[in-house]
Amino acid sequence: MSAPTPSLPAAESLTVMGAGLVGSLLSLYLARRGHSVQVFERRADPRREGFQEGRSINLALSDRGWRALEGVGVADDIREVGIAMSGRVMHDAQGNLTRQPYGQEGQAIYSVNRGHLNRRLLDLADANPAVTLRFDQQCRRIDLKKQELQLLDNATQQEHTEPYTRLFGTDGAFSAVRGALQRTDRYDYSQDYLDYGYKELTIEAGPDGAWQLEKNALHIWPRGQYLMIALPNLDGSFNCTLFFPYEGAESFAALQTPADVTAFFTRVFPDAVPLMPELTQEFFENPTGSLVTIRCYPWKYDDDVLLLGDASHAMVPFYGQGMNAGFEDCRVLNDLLDQHGDAAWPAIFSEFQTQRKPNADAMADLALYNFTEMRDRVADPRFLLQKKIEAKISQQFPGRWTPLYSQVTFSHTPYAEAWAAGQRQDAIMARLMPGIQTEADFDLPAVQELVAQEMRQKDLE
Ligand SMILES: Cc1cc2nc3c(=O)[nH]c(=O)nc-3n(C[C@H](O)[C@H](O)[C@H](O)COP(=O)(O)OP(=O)(O)OC[C@H]3O[C@@H](n4cnc5c(N)ncnc54)[C@H](O)[C@@H]3O)c2cc1C
Repeated sequence: MSAPTPSLPAAESLTVMGAGLVGSLLSLYLARRGHSVQVFERRADPRREGFQEGRSINLALSDRGWRALEGVGVADDIREVGIAMSGRVMHDAQGNLTRQPYGQEGQAIYSVNRGHLNRRLLDLADANPAVTLRFDQQCRRIDLKKQELQLLDNATQQEHTEPYTRLFGTDGAFSAVRGALQRTDRYDYSQDYLDYGYKELTIEAGPDGAWQLEKNALHIWPRGQYLMIALPNLDGSFNCTLFFPYEGAESFAALQTPADVTAFFTRVFPDAVPLMPELTQEFFENPTGSLVTIRCYPWKYDDDVLLLGDASHAMVPFYGQGMNAGFEDCRVLNDLLDQHGDAAWPAIFSEFQTQRKPNADAMADLALYNFTEMRDRVADPRFLLQKKIEAKISQQFPGRWTPLYSQVTFSHTPYAEAWAAGQRQDAIMARLMPGIQTEADFDLPAVQELVAQEMRQKDLE
C-alpha cells in the first residue's frame, strides 16, 4: 500500500498559548509548515535585558527530545551547550561512590540549561517572519463557542479580547486553556500531589571552574525515603535538587533553623556539604516546589483547540521525561500533519489524542515508579546486580532484550509499549535472580539454561 499523499498545505492563522519549552518548539514546527503563528506568553521576554530569570535550572534531555529538536534544525546548537551524562553516580551515607551506566557505550542523557534552551527556541521563532511573539499576555478566560481569548496585558494591566481560529494550549501544568476545557461537559480531570516537595540547591564550582564531582554523570544521594540529585553546569557548578517529605521526622517541616539544616545535611549527605557553601541560605531563600501528576481527557475541543506538553500531561520529574514527552508531542503532531495534510485538522486532533494519551499515562506511571527506584532501590546491591545481569542478557540477545530505562530514554518506542515490555522483563528477572548471587553466576550452565528458556518463552509471547 502506498503512503497517503498529503494535500497541499493550507496556510492558516494559528494561535499558541504559552511560549515555554513546548510552545516555542511547536510554533517553529507550525511556522515551518507555512502557517502564520501568533504566540501569547504571560511572562516578559526572557531574552530582554534585565529579565530576572531566577536560579538556573537544568533538565535532562534525551533521545525523544533530541529528535524533536532535530526536526526544526536546532539540535546541534543545543548539543554544544549540553553536558553528556553517561551514567548515574550513587553517593552513600559514608561518601562511597557506585557508578551505573545509563545504557551502552556512547549513550548518554544531556544536562541542558532550561533558560538557554527556551531562549534559543524563542530566537529561532523570532527569526521566522511567520511567527509573532507577544509577551506579557496572560490568558484569563476563553470563550470556546465564540473562539475568543480574554487576555490581560501584564505591562499595562489592560484586558483585551483576541479571536482565534485554532488554539494550541502549551501553557503548562496549570493551563488556562485546559481550564476552559474542564468546564465543558463530561471532562475528565485529576491532579495528584506527592507528599514530597523539592528544593533547588547548588554545588559550587571548584578553583578555575573545575567540577568538584565527576562531570559526565547525574549524581544521586539515595536515602530510602528521600533523595538529592545533582546535574552538571558548564561553569563547573552543579544544580542540586532535594526531593524531601513535607512532614515527618525527616522533612521540610522538621528543618526550621540553619543549625537544623547543617546538622541534617552533614549527617546524611556528608560528602556534598563541603561543596555547598550557600546551603543554609539557599535552603531558606529558595522556594519549595510541589510535585504533581495531572491527567485529563479529551485533549481537544472540536477541531479548534488542542493541548500539548504539561497542559495535557504534567508528571513528576523522576524519569526526566516531562519535557522530552512534550517535545515528542510536537514531533508526532508534525508527523500527523505530514500524513494527513494540513487541512485535515479534525482527523489530526482526534488521532493525536488517541495516540498520545495512553503513552502520556504510561509515562506518568513510569515517572512515579522511578521515584522509588531513585530514592531507594539504586542503593540496594541486589538491584545493581540485577541491572548488570540485564545488561549481559541484552548483550547476549541483541535486539531481543532492551532494558526498560533504555527503551524510555534511548528509543522512540511508544511509552506504553516500553512500559509493558519492561514489566514483562521485570517478571523474568524476578524468576532468574534467586539463582544468581554474583555477576559470574550468569555464566553458570543452569542459569544459562534458564535464561535461554525464558527468552524462548518471551519470543513466543
Ligand atoms: C524539578 C523538575 C525537574 C524536571 N526535570 C526534567 C528533566 O530532567 N527532563 C525533562 O524532560 N523534564 C523535566 N521536567 C519537566 C519539564 O520541566 C516540563 O515537562 C516542561 O517544562 C513542560 O513544558 P511546557 O512548555 O509544556 O510547560 P512550561 O514549561 O510550564 O511552559 C508553559 C508556559 O506557558 C506560560 N503560561 C502559563 N499560563 C499562562 C497563561 N495563563 N497565559 C499565558 N501564558 C501562560 C508560562 O509562563 C510558560 O512560559 C522537570 C520538572 C520539574 C518540576
